[in-house]
Amino acid sequence: MKKHNFSAGPCVLPKSVMEQAAAAVLNFDDGLSLLEISHRSKPFVDVMENARSLALELLGLEGKGYKALFLQGGASTQFLMVALNLLEKRAGYLNTGTWADKAIKEAKIYDDIYEIGSSKSANYNYIPKGYDIPEDYDYFHCTSNNTIFGTQMKSFPNSPIPMVCDMSSDIFSRQLDFSKFDLIYAGAQKNMGPAGTTLVVIKEDILGKVSRKIPSMMNYKEHISKGSMFNTPPVFAVYVSMLTLEWLKNLGGIKAIEEENEKKARLIYSEIDLNPLFKGYSVKEDRSIMNATFTLENENLKETFESMVKEAGINGINGHRSVGGYRASMYNALSLDSVKALVEVMSELESKA
Ligand SMILES: *Cc1c(COP(=O)(O)O)cnc(C)c1O
Repeated sequence: MKKHNFSAGPCVLPKSVMEQAAAAVLNFDDGLSLLEISHRSKPFVDVMENARSLALELLGLEGKGYKALFLQGGASTQFLMVALNLLEKRAGYLNTGTWADKAIKEAKIYDDIYEIGSSKSANYNYIPKGYDIPEDYDYFHCTSNNTIFGTQMKSFPNSPIPMVCDMSSDIFSRQLDFSKFDLIYAGAQKNMGPAGTTLVVIKEDILGKVSRKIPSMMNYKEHISKGSMFNTPPVFAVYVSMLTLEWLKNLGGIKAIEEENEKKARLIYSEIDLNPLFKGYSVKEDRSIMNATFTLENENLKETFESMVKEAGINGINGHRSVGGYRASMYNALSLDSVKALVEVMSELESKA
């Protein structure tokens, strides 16, 4: 039976991408597997270059001084790398969730980070607004989508200093003026591909301004100068990411997928709001179109609801332990039909209760 995969990450990928990826494992180039050819061979160098240029093209950042890298270590390594490469005196962070908090913790190794705003005391159910970004700081760091809490920044400040954004869970899902950002990073495993690589998009002119020595593997400049091949890249993860970016381009790019994502989000949130058995977790104006978080009003229905969910072939809607309840992650590759299946179960529960 086909599963409706609402997993928060790693998560659903397009079926056509999965088929091409599987085929490349068996035969990528003249009888050789993608996994057994040199990363320096022309076929793989072409994959890396194609993936890098597709990322910039889809974000509308070609020819604007940006470079795209596919690195390892996950978004979590970027928490540290951002600070190593950009932090000289002080940086300002917006604390909107567990991941933002972790980014702050890593940067604090180098400096007393200033929290420009925080929704921690409300267990992150909203996005702080109306904050000021000090002009003499090195950079401002924010998290566009808070995967665990289901909140999303709907607008971004006009930052007087370089703006760094963790877009791990909503990159390529909605149209933004990406040129407002000086550094964007995203672990692949939510909207782009399998775990194992992290996309980093950097405006080159913000680099080279800190006085510390940066180890090569941690140094963006080093990775840029080596064409994202300083060492052996995670070839499979980069290849599958490239396929997903091609899939998105063929669909009509971010504009087309945003329309789909909005349809999915409207459908689930209207059920959450209209069905008296459920309650949304995050404040309405900050609701994420990627991760919808909600709880059951009556805990006695938990068992019934969860067995109906299972029966319908729905996977991965348990909420994160720090929020409880449920979380429906609706990344780019999740179909509207899957959301319809979940909404059907929710309304069926109402008719039974
Ligand atoms: C999943 C996630 C991360 C962590 O990514 P890793 O690649 O596992 O390090 C960081 N930030 C956000 C917003 C996430 O959703």
